Amino acid sequence: MAETTQQCFFPGLDGPIAVVDIETTGGNVTRDRITEIGIVEFDHDGVKEWSTLINPGMAIPRTVQALTGINNDMVADAPRFEQVAKQIWQRLEGKIFVAHNVRFDYGFIRNAFADLGFSMQLNLLCTVKLSRALYPEYKRHGLEAIIERFNIPTSARHRALEDAKATYHFLKQAQQDKSAADFMAAVQLQTKRPSLPPGLDPSIIEQLPNGPGVYYFYGDNDNLLYVGKSVNIRKRVMSHFSGDKASAKAMTMCQQIRDIRATETTGELSALLLESAEIKKQQPIFNRRLRRLSTLYTIQLLEDSKGLLRPKVTPVTEAQRHLKMYGLFPAQKKARNALQETAKATGLCDHVMVPGTDPQSPCMGRQLKRCEGLCVGEVSVVQHNVWLMDALAKIGLSAWPFAGRVCLVEFTRSGDDNDKRYTAFLLDNWCLLASQEGVGDPDIQELSRMACEPMLDRDLYRYLCKALLKPAKDTRLLPL
Ligand SMILES: [Zn+2]
Repeated sequence: MAETTQQCFFPGLDGPIAVVDIETTGGNVTRDRITEIGIVEFDHDGVKEWSTLINPGMAIPRTVQALTGINNDMVADAPRFEQVAKQIWQRLEGKIFVAHNVRFDYGFIRNAFADLGFSMQLNLLCTVKLSRALYPEYKRHGLEAIIERFNIPTSARHRALEDAKATYHFLKQAQQDKSAADFMAAVQLQTKRPSLPPGLDPSIIEQLPNGPGVYYFYGDNDNLLYVGKSVNIRKRVMSHFSGDKASAKAMTMCQQIRDIRATETTGELSALLLESAEIKKQQPIFNRRLRRLSTLYTIQLLEDSKGLLRPKVTPVTEAQRHLKMYGLFPAQKKARNALQETAKATGLCDHVMVPGTDPQSPCMGRQLKRCEGLCVGEVSVVQHNVWLMDALAKIGLSAWPFAGRVCLVEFTRSGDDNDKRYTAFLLDNWCLLASQEGVGDPDIQELSRMACEPMLDRDLYRYLCKALLKPAKDTRLLPL
């Protein structure tokens, strides 16, 4: 297909395009793999076609083989994705990625690049949506229906290049069919989306700070929708609207945003803690996922009079300092379930793993032939202890690396040393006891007096592991 160079590519598209179609081992974007890719490029050099089979590194299910005609033998000697990744990247780079149901093809290709450590960011155009916008009188907009509608010649349906060519053909056909203005409007409607929330003044985003802190999304009547944190507030806020990871819930939220406010903090840790505190206090509608701050539970192993280790589910704040903590759970029940699952998987005895069971009879697990037999004397106490510790090891929290309390200070990046703003945190056993903000040097004595109910959550634990074991540039650990 030779074509002369054109000044403008398509009305509404201000650049070259790559029409892409892929075949895969199935429809699951994380589990399945690409078996073939076909690309029709349209750029300053005209139209180019390219395709290759790809060895997916997994078997192609029989039903998929039947649909595409691509079987395991055909891909056995084909290159793996990483071997053709560079070529694909060069063909797609700087182009508008066009596909029929673009989320599918783009999702797979983007994931494949992500596996190789590359982040692909292209503007997308979906020809399904384009067809819907331009031909509302039709009900069906699948590629099959479109091929029929326009009588598009095609030789091998469900092969990547043939489908990409058919998609490109549709794009050209639609452009000829419709007025430039209509075509352009339909294209722009899509490529501009996902966009900023309709009820939000764009200048609000422009004014957001680029530093660390907490941001607040407000809806009608100043109703707080969501609280989030970031090391770069504006960038993070923008990412909410990029739509790449948008779930239905996230989209619903974005539609409702009328105002965004932000509070800058000294650094990342301060942002994390302020976010936690704000969510706890204000309970924004869309933070349900983050409502984990009430009480967290953990598991500790206590030795009974016979030397048998028994798991005890306890609030983190009441955990015994000298004992190891296993896991962080948002509810007591979750911790208990985890123990039962562990028992099932490892042959541990219900009498130990399910508190409150009758210790006399063989346990339920034994009756179901799951328990190796601690309850009937077939497994020794020592052996059971070893199995239990082994089974829980993977959810074990790191031991607190200090003898007791420590003070972690976070400084602002800017300002000279004498008037640097700081936030100081009093910490013990992965919990936050108190925090203090100020300028210059922290008042440790005052901070110690402020200590109140310990607070711990998963993010805080994760952050502290990093911050305490490998302190960041802007933090300092002070002796108490
Ligand atoms: Zn048992």
